[in-house]
Amino acid sequence: MSLEHALSLELQHLESIGRLRATETLCGADRLHPRDSDGRELVCFASNDYLGLSSHPALMSAATAAIRDHGSGSAASRLVSGETPPHRALEDALASFLGTEAALLFPTGYQANVGTLTALAGPQDFIASDAANHASLIDGCRLSRSRVGIFEHGNPDSAELALRAAPSSARRRFIVTESLFSMDGDRAPLAALSALATRFDATLIVDEAHALGVLGPSGRGLSAALGLRPEIRIGTLGKAFGSAGGFVAGSHRLRTVLLNRARTFIYTTAAPASLAAAALAALHIIEAPEGESLRAALSRNLARIRARLPNQALGPHPASAVDQILPVIVGPDTAATELAARLRSEGLVATAIRPPTVPENTARLRITVSAAHAASDIDRLVRGLLAALAGTRAPSAAMGAPRA
Ligand code: PMP
Repeated sequence: MSLEHALSLELQHLESIGRLRATETLCGADRLHPRDSDGRELVCFASNDYLGLSSHPALMSAATAAIRDHGSGSAASRLVSGETPPHRALEDALASFLGTEAALLFPTGYQANVGTLTALAGPQDFIASDAANHASLIDGCRLSRSRVGIFEHGNPDSAELALRAAPSSARRRFIVTESLFSMDGDRAPLAALSALATRFDATLIVDEAHALGVLGPSGRGLSAALGLRPEIRIGTLGKAFGSAGGFVAGSHRLRTVLLNRARTFIYTTAAPASLAAAALAALHIIEAPEGESLRAALSRNLARIRARLPNQALGPHPASAVDQILPVIVGPDTAATELAARLRSEGLVATAIRPPTVPENTARLRITVSAAHAASDIDRLVRGLLAALAGTRAPSAAMGAPRA
């Protein structure tokens, strides 16, 4: 069979099951209030720009100054000749922000996760991994060729069972989890997982992608909010930090081993200095009183949306959906895409998330709230969502699907 023929069969199949995806270009620096290609103004509830920093003047001028000072591209991997002063300055600042000895930047959070797991774990090791972990953590587990025990999402008892079932010959054990889950919007039981790590002599790896900048004292994340110090914390710079990139924070030794062993660090061009400079400017804001007031604005928006949406519109565990990611679970793929289309006709962007990103029959709208949404944006979303839900199917029947 020719490749083109195979491709066309694959596309027909995706279309027939309603899972053909496509990108859409949205214009404008303000990613929360973008325009479509016809110039129509939209309000976006589908971005991870939780503090609205991606269009902050301080980040934009830091990035443009860095392009002037260091060029638009970094021209090589970090180990060859691609490192610039903003890379090191950002690593030092992130380490001191999180109170770790060191941090290492990766071009993306995806690469940070894959690189860390594959550098540290191998076929002799065991990884206990939350069932709802991000694809980059799953791929890191798979590529590491470790034995992997997947535990029920957010359930420390299930994590304990997984650890008990680990081969006694395992060289090292790891527990891997997100802190604020990207698709369910709930928080991991980090205190219980940290206690398990101590009991089972395991290393806890926490991906704080969605929590950094938003949760905890000065936005230091969920671990910091709970007074925990996981041995390894991973973050991204493309969400609340309004830039792009990823990093791992931990000991000096961890940094040096990753720098020597993480293939996604070694064999890739360093991110441009401009992205590191923008992220550093973001960190300064996140730590400053301005960050505090942005988090307060986000909290006000969350309180506003929660007060206006019925509880069952807030995902599988409404009580725990207290943060900026609000999943509206509708079940079938088509229900989610219809809901998204109805909102879109009102100028509201909220993306339908379908399997395999989420388990079968839990297709959803993933609504994300930002500090940079106006109260009127929130009210518009609530009106649009309630009307769309009423048109799609009765909210009580449509929502509250059990977690897979
Ligand atoms: N971890 C989690 C939990 C994520 O949601 C994402 C991005 N969606 C990543 C890692 C990857 O980060 P990046 O986008 O920087 O590659």
